[in-house]
Amino acid sequence: MHSLMTDKKQLLCALPKIDECLAGLAGRAGSVPPTLVKLAVRHCIDLERQRILTDDPDCQLLSREQWDERLLEAITLKNQMNLRRVINGTGVVIHTNLGRSLLSTSMVDALQQAGAHYTNLEFDLSNGKRGSRYSLVEEIICDLTGAEAALVVNNNAAAVLLALDTLASGKEVIVSRGQLVEIGGSFRIPDVIAKSGARLVEVGATNRTHLADYERMINDETAMLLKVHTSNFRIIGFTSEVSAEELVALGHAKSLPVMEDLGSGSLVDLSPFGLPQEPTVQQIVKAGVDVVTFSGDKLLGGPQAGLIVGKKEVIDRIKRNPLNRALRIDKFTLASLEAVLRNYYDLEQALTTIPTLKMLTQPVDLIKRRAQRLMRRIHAKIQPTCSLSLQPTMSRVGGGAMPEHGLSSWAVTFKPLQIHLSAMEQGLRKLSIPIIGRMEDDSLLLDMRTVSDEEIPDLAASLISFFRCGELS
Ligand SMILES: *Cc1c(COP(=O)(O)O)cnc(C)c1O
Repeated sequence: MHSLMTDKKQLLCALPKIDECLAGLAGRAGSVPPTLVKLAVRHCIDLERQRILTDDPDCQLLSREQWDERLLEAITLKNQMNLRRVINGTGVVIHTNLGRSLLSTSMVDALQQAGAHYTNLEFDLSNGKRGSRYSLVEEIICDLTGAEAALVVNNNAAAVLLALDTLASGKEVIVSRGQLVEIGGSFRIPDVIAKSGARLVEVGATNRTHLADYERMINDETAMLLKVHTSNFRIIGFTSEVSAEELVALGHAKSLPVMEDLGSGSLVDLSPFGLPQEPTVQQIVKAGVDVVTFSGDKLLGGPQAGLIVGKKEVIDRIKRNPLNRALRIDKFTLASLEAVLRNYYDLEQALTTIPTLKMLTQPVDLIKRRAQRLMRRIHAKIQPTCSLSLQPTMSRVGGGAMPEHGLSSWAVTFKPLQIHLSAMEQGLRKLSIPIIGRMEDDSLLLDMRTVSDEEIPDLAASLISFFRCGELS
């Protein structure tokens, strides 16, 4: 014990001083701002001090070279963007953790224009007076959905909250028990209803809810009937749900607004491409639902946003809610949202120009050919250190949409021969353009549905250099 203490004391005394470290680096940090270099160096020394003091009884004195190497690595890490592009080899198209939908070139152009220049964000060019940012997209959303009016807020969670707050605060909202879901990222329908100040009234059983269940619970306190898309969750077997049409008939007979949170909310029927048939936003609007909410960055394929569409009288009330100001969207969202929406005037074009839709509908043989292209580039160079194969696999829609549905796809699978699978997975994650795959059994899969043709050369080069390094060490 005593000798351990003295050892620790010695190690602590031997820690280099910040100025020594900086002098030792002697300009090797290149053009990195000196402040950042100093902070990184201090952080390294602090970490080492912690390590000596706490967990590591036999920690060694680091050599000058080891220190320099560690410092340079820390400086490089601190000097790079924290938000970075990655290669999505998971096959999950709308991957919430990897940023959901990708923007097309036209959407990025719109965003860039809005960012680099002054815009008519809230300036009416026809009369030179103050304008409304929402008017920039409202007409387009109405054209596409058939709704009378529309509003866009920060995300769909905000859309649901705002609509409930406006229409049902202090009153009762009737929801089917089977639809009280948690979407993930801590969005729970019962909690959102509570936050809006409305009181939740659950009806039906988990698997079956009938129109009479709603009808029985309607009273003077009832403010609305709510239907929620169960998204990432599916009840199968002996089930029954009340349709939007039935709910609208009941609601309107009782002078109550009906709201539907669609979640993904697609403007295109994707069933001709082998995906499950889901009601489109247009169909729900046509069914007479007063307020429909859906995300901008799920199946719509645009930026993060929450779209609220429906009857003019109801949407106007939502627009007047002061909470709206706190949930409003910025010019970047508006720019890229308008650009993505414009694609939908030509549905056929939308399927190829909107990356999310393109990835969801691409033919499997095209994906297979992409997998073969990657394989051809890397096979000979990686094979000695890692066993490679082409394998059919299943991609996922993601974003809570169509949870039980797999999309036929192809993957390149990697089974490392000289390092652990977990070491490989970690190593690929730490590349300058991280490669994120899917672990299955004793291999890592890169599903080629979510990798673009343009990414193949860089992806191949990264993989080759990664496995070359592994070979040396
Ligand atoms: C995804 C989802 C939400 C939340 O939408 P965000 O755009 O992520 O805020 C709400 N409701 C349903 C049904 C969803 O699927």
